[in-house]
Amino acid sequence: MQFDLFDASSNTILGSASYTEFKEKLRDSGCDKCALHTGRTNIVVDRGNPSAYVMVIGEGPGENEDKQALAFVGRAGQLFDKIMSSVGFDTNRDMLIVNVVKCRPPENRNPRAEEVAECIPYLKRQIELVKPKVIVLLGATALKHMDKSKTTFQMSDEAGKFFTLGDYPGIQFMVFYHPAALLYNAKLKPAMWSHVKHLRRYLEQKGLFRTSRQSPAASHQPPSAQH
Ligand code: URA
Repeated sequence: MQFDLFDASSNTILGSASYTEFKEKLRDSGCDKCALHTGRTNIVVDRGNPSAYVMVIGEGPGENEDKQALAFVGRAGQLFDKIMSSVGFDTNRDMLIVNVVKCRPPENRNPRAEEVAECIPYLKRQIELVKPKVIVLLGATALKHMDKSKTTFQMSDEAGKFFTLGDYPGIQFMVFYHPAALLYNAKLKPAMWSHVKHLRRYLEQKGLFRTSRQSPAASHQPPSAQH
């Protein structure tokens, strides 16, 4: 856990003992650690099931996410849900979807290094509290901020492959094309489908497909949806 000696508010959030507590504190914090706070409506913490074995990391909230305080609910999110559902995933039950930055960058530009630097301790705490077995990185922004060794790369070389990171033992990482890229370039869709199926096969082999931990306190799901 990364504490800031001079920031009592973020230390209180990062010190949360459960994911539910973390989420409430961050959502209600009025965080103003970076410039993005001036343009936001809501701090967008996540969408989905914090008891799921799969965490998905996107870039940052867009207009719809900012209004609804939920990650990936705009056009890109709807396409992502559709693709995942076509291979048997329910994104709200089988995944927890989060972002590198929790506030909307103006005009949906990429988050700046200084914005990510302020926000990434929250993402790291989400990973610690949720303890995912697999993390899917959606697009280049998520990849470069999670794997600092990736300074120059082609998404076509990275997408669809599993890898591990020394800072996150026990977690398998995989990169997908960002669904927004698919909205502009439909030619990427067949590759995306094959990557999603690869993820499904891996989870099936490990007995992790469409299952989650028993954690009623943290879960958004009714008891019948838990395994
Ligand atoms: N794009 C992202 O990367 N994240 C969202 O939450 C929405 C769109």
